[in-house]
Amino acid sequence: MEEQANTGVSVRTERKALEKAKILQRETQRQTFKLVSRILKKSESERTEEDLANLQRHQDTVQELCKRQVRRTLLKRKQEELFDDAEEFRAKVRQLAEAVRQARHLVVYTGAGISTAASIPDYRGPNGVWTQLQRGRAVSTSDLSEAEPTLTHMCIRMLHKKNMVQHVVSQNCDGLHLRSGLPRHALSELHGNMFIEVCTSCSPVREYIRLFDVTERTALHRHGTGRQCSHCNGELRDTIVHFGERGTLEQPLNWKGAAEAAEQADVILCLGSSLKVLKKYACLWCMNRPANRRPKLYIVNLQWTPKDDFATLKIHGKCDDVMRLLMEDLDIQIPKYNRAEDPIFSMATALRADEERSYTRRMIAPPAALESTLQDSTGQAEGAAITGGWFGRGYSKARKKKKVAL
Ligand SMILES: [Zn+2]
Repeated sequence: MEEQANTGVSVRTERKALEKAKILQRETQRQTFKLVSRILKKSESERTEEDLANLQRHQDTVQELCKRQVRRTLLKRKQEELFDDAEEFRAKVRQLAEAVRQARHLVVYTGAGISTAASIPDYRGPNGVWTQLQRGRAVSTSDLSEAEPTLTHMCIRMLHKKNMVQHVVSQNCDGLHLRSGLPRHALSELHGNMFIEVCTSCSPVREYIRLFDVTERTALHRHGTGRQCSHCNGELRDTIVHFGERGTLEQPLNWKGAAEAAEQADVILCLGSSLKVLKKYACLWCMNRPANRRPKLYIVNLQWTPKDDFATLKIHGKCDDVMRLLMEDLDIQIPKYNRAEDPIFSMATALRADEERSYTRRMIAPPAALESTLQDSTGQAEGAAITGGWFGRGYSKARKKKKVAL
């Protein structure tokens, strides 16, 4: 009995000693890091004999600190927004125009960067949604329903009409490609469309296009929009694919169209996407082919992308600036967006009387009502922090992070 107690005591003492030694070791390590980093900050001429001896003694620490510095610099460089100077920019767009003219099957991949001009913030730029959410800040923006297709959206639609662009693959959920008049068969919205809710109980899946953001109540793994299918009463769900989810809906995702387009493409033009998510979709890049048989890659983005090294050409510029110049080179007029021709108004399903109060986000005003609605917009959630749905918390990466105020 006594022996057992003694053993217990000695085990405990041993464990405590071990813990103490560990703490001491960590503390010594910390001091070494501090010492070495202080010496490394000095210029070489300032370093004393003692400094040099210390560097010699702690070579592992020196190496580790240098490695960290390199990583930090690289990370910083990747986040910076760069602009090509005017002359280089001009030459690059001319080169792009030539590629567009020569292309047999041109596919365009678009990301948030093409919508920033429509006052929809991008995700990973310095003020992007993702960046803000990572810092634990709530995202606030003027009402999304006022966003309209940008010059870039309109150029893409026009190039498709002229048979110079065959397909558009977008990771944007803002529905602006559709609203620009691009036909649906030429579009894959890989992460969904904020204006579309569907009934998956109906076969085939029944689609309801609305004139407002249907995602205000939805989030990661929670897709019910709170409205019901008028045919089977099943719960309607949004079409948004959040980080960490796998999108399986046929429409509007249209993976089949995207994969077929990539398969046939000889030129891929990436506009305003960091490509951090798109690069993971192997079928979009024909990586199973030898490098010289893959589609030629043209990238327009202000920041670094993981595909830069594979690109035939990388243009650092704003999408609208590139497209404006490109269309000039191609001698094609850029159509202006006209709300009266926005196809969403004819595609939309009207709400039933009992659904009239089922949403709080503002409706896209039909052309005739546009002016009066803009003036009489009180009572709606104007400029409020966006928390639900495709835009807010649900869309942020599914990892542990600070709570965002509701
Ligand atoms: Zn149904």
